[in-house]
Amino acid sequence: MYFHPIEEPDSGQIGYLLADGDTQDAVIIDPPPRSTELLLALLAERRLRLSHVLRTHVHARQPLNCSALSELTGAMLVIADGVGINAACPAKVERAVHGSTLVFGQEVLRVLATPGHTAHCVSYLWRDRLFCGDAFDLGSCADGDDDADAGLLYDSLTCRLFMLPEQTLVFPAHPLRGRRVATLGELRLRSAPLLAGSRDAFITDMTSRRAAHLRHARPSPTAKRR
Ligand SMILES: [Zn+2]
Repeated sequence: MYFHPIEEPDSGQIGYLLADGDTQDAVIIDPPPRSTELLLALLAERRLRLSHVLRTHVHARQPLNCSALSELTGAMLVIADGVGINAACPAKVERAVHGSTLVFGQEVLRVLATPGHTAHCVSYLWRDRLFCGDAFDLGSCADGDDDADAGLLYDSLTCRLFMLPEQTLVFPAHPLRGRRVATLGELRLRSAPLLAGSRDAFITDMTSRRAAHLRHARPSPTAKRR
């Protein structure tokens, strides 16, 4: 097994390169912007064959940045149902459907639908590791992200993500309070005050946080998006 996080300093985005060390089959989850050259070098160095480029989510105003990688490697682009794709995108596309599995070499990823941060977010579970995009980024998710749906997020957290084992290692698309990995148990404790009340209370709380955030720091059109 080969596991290599790739963090892009300007955007703070983190992608994850996974591979079966025996068969040399590899996948990349959420490749950060401007990481194509680095990824190609890592693939060449390890003699890995990239079979899939997976996205946990795509924001409405954010272009898909992985078509170049798919085009250069022939890898299948995997994104959730409902995410629009530019007709000019040269990549072969496979839809990530809840409950489905994706195989690379002898490794298996399981797809979990975890909407909320955007309407069509998915997470990928691999061994004891969860790649969930921004699902646990409760600060920014409702704090000014136009794509967020607090009700869907509450359902994904309480009915799906927190149903996984406590020891599951969570790898986010951005550092969470400076940390790049946490166990699900740690995140459950951290989220407990927000999730202690009802679904309606969570939605109200998120809505008021977002309104306060917009009042104090309306993001400029050029601000980095998560
Ligand atoms: Zn995001």
